[in-house]
Amino acid sequence: MSGLRKPKIAVIGSSSMDLVVTSKKRPQAGETVLGEMFETVPGGKGANQAVAAAKLGADVYMIGCVGDDPYGEQILDNFKRKGVHTDYVEPVTHQKSGTAHIILAEGDNSIVVVKGANDFVTPAYVKKTQSLLAECDLVMIQQEIPEETVEEAAAICKQLGVPLLLNPAPARKVSGTIVDQVAYLTPNEHEAALLFPGVDPKEALKKYPNKLFITEGAAGVRYFDGTKEVLVPSFPVKAVDTTGAGDTFNAAFGTAMAEGQGMKESLRFANRAASLSVTGFGAQGGMPTRQEVEEEMR
Ligand code: ADP
Repeated sequence: MSGLRKPKIAVIGSSSMDLVVTSKKRPQAGETVLGEMFETVPGGKGANQAVAAAKLGADVYMIGCVGDDPYGEQILDNFKRKGVHTDYVEPVTHQKSGTAHIILAEGDNSIVVVKGANDFVTPAYVKKTQSLLAECDLVMIQQEIPEETVEEAAAICKQLGVPLLLNPAPARKVSGTIVDQVAYLTPNEHEAALLFPGVDPKEALKKYPNKLFITEGAAGVRYFDGTKEVLVPSFPVKAVDTTGAGDTFNAAFGTAMAEGQGMKESLRFANRAASLSVTGFGAQGGMPTRQEVEEEMR
């Protein structure tokens, strides 16, 4: 990271505990099957992006909520071990932490998400963190928290002049006002189709030069630089588990931009980090360190 300063980043978003079982057979309605393995792993898009950015060298403040249950304590503990500041992660009384109940069976996954305390990341909650946001080089947000919170964050960041990176995942419609207010918008192809229904992605890219970045999995990421469309290719790797690829991509892109790297360099760095992340299991498990990314880029 020679010559680059350590950027200060706030991540407004979800954190959860993923409860993962593997089983040969997926149970049908009313059926009980025996599983093989059970694991609890910290997840949630906000938490994943915060942890990834910290591993990549940013000074990261998580803004989120956990329940007043043992999972909440484990989620907080995980943030601390990964070097994410938790001063703005509040345990919510009488609430359960967010959980994702994941069955890995027959080569695919089935997931039930319970939002729990993540619903308490409200506009008022974000408003209280304004003084922190004002000091940040960049703020990142995703869509596993209430829509009104994303609206509030976009308005606050615009007013403060702090760039906001909105990763519009999971897919849902986003108002034109939010799109106008954010600095960077990073849907995958499926999310882009929902954001701009009936619009040719090429036209959407042209409409939002240097703002809209559509990730295309192994192919990389596409954007319009003001004069032409650019595809920044990802790096060929042996993909083991693509869970969390987008989270690593966003964290790396945000970190590099907040450091003051150029747009194309930041996208290359993001592709490199995300491509490394798919070579390991789990969302946070596969996230590379700064050193690992830089060694690969030499
Ligand atoms: P999401 O994970 O949000 O669905 P994508 O699948 O578009 O998003 O992946 C995000 C980024 O992760 C891509 O732009 C690319 O940099 C990287 N990536 C994903 N899958 C692969 C892969 N199989 N090989 C190399 N890079 C990948």
